[in-house]
Amino acid sequence: MAELGEGAKGQGPTYNLPPNPLPQSHKFLRGKAGPPAPFSPTPLKGVGEGSLRKNVEQPPPAVLKQARAPAPHPPALPSKNLLLLLLFCIFLVVPVGATPAQENKIAVVASILPLGDFCRKIGGDLVQVAVLIPPGASPHLFEPTPWAVSRAARARVFVYVGAGLDPWAERLLHTREARNVAVVEAVQGIPLLGEAEEKGDAGHHHLESGNPHVWLDPVLMAGVCRRIAGALEKVDPAHREVYQANLQAYLKDLQALDREIRARVATFRIREFVSFHPSFSYFARRYGLKELGSIEVSPGREPSPRYLQNLIAAIRRYGVRVVFAEPQFSPRIAQVIAQEAGVKVLTLDPLGGRPPYGDDYLALMRDNLKIMTEAMQ
Ligand SMILES: [Zn+2]
Repeated sequence: MAELGEGAKGQGPTYNLPPNPLPQSHKFLRGKAGPPAPFSPTPLKGVGEGSLRKNVEQPPPAVLKQARAPAPHPPALPSKNLLLLLLFCIFLVVPVGATPAQENKIAVVASILPLGDFCRKIGGDLVQVAVLIPPGASPHLFEPTPWAVSRAARARVFVYVGAGLDPWAERLLHTREARNVAVVEAVQGIPLLGEAEEKGDAGHHHLESGNPHVWLDPVLMAGVCRRIAGALEKVDPAHREVYQANLQAYLKDLQALDREIRARVATFRIREFVSFHPSFSYFARRYGLKELGSIEVSPGREPSPRYLQNLIAAIRRYGVRVVFAEPQFSPRIAQVIAQEAGVKVLTLDPLGGRPPYGDDYLALMRDNLKIMTEAMQ
């Protein structure tokens, strides 16, 4: 079932955000702590469509009879309009019962927002997704809140990145009783960029377990989405067709994104860039861009002055116009380097959770592409 009906309307899935987004201990966090933003569900293809369609397109016979009854002369309201009005009233009253109650949903936990979005797109309104990392926090520096611990304990599907990005997620997974939980580790089966890699001009990152930022390559994420669908089917085989249909629709979205990025990057005049930390390395490799170096090779640890001098020299040599900062970290060092090198600072977001893209991975990637275009075209 690769093709999906158009305009399917579904009550979107619920999407849990942590109640206390910014733990005090995160000195690198920016932005204000506050209540979680309400998640506005987007209509999802192929989910919940049957029940709503029935209500909208096949009203009960009694309604049709009323609507078609001969109108008094002159008619107070044209019968066609009356019919629409009645249908609209039914639409308002009925849909509440059309979605499964929250407690019947599959509890899904994802460590970071992009993985949570994949789960939401594939699980539709059959799942309730909790993302353990609050918006604005970095997975590298995160310590699980009690909220995260409780969500992890209830999860039936657990999705995390691996390769040292979210070791706390792995710990949460292992402390819970491993009963009936389907686990997806995103990096599994993906050859990781890391120590074997050629050194960049300003020295390259060395991460012990390889670079974990695989989710910023949308092509690699097709495989991760397939595995998420597989995990959902495992714990909820009755809805296999729904998961498969949602998966196929989302794979098409990922392909469209990939084509869009390729077309845009082909117009770039500058292909080198300086990242804040090696988060866009997989993106760079996929699309033929070159990460000259990162300001913080190891997130949270400040680079040496000598390292920064090399980085600035590389920026000048390659005619790089922009140094990228990231919203999860202080932009201070990026600003200092940019000033020294006479270039601008722009922000790339590897994680999402902020306007205008919110929790939507595709929108996040398009926004990052827009920023890169500004810097490199
Ligand atoms: Zn990172």
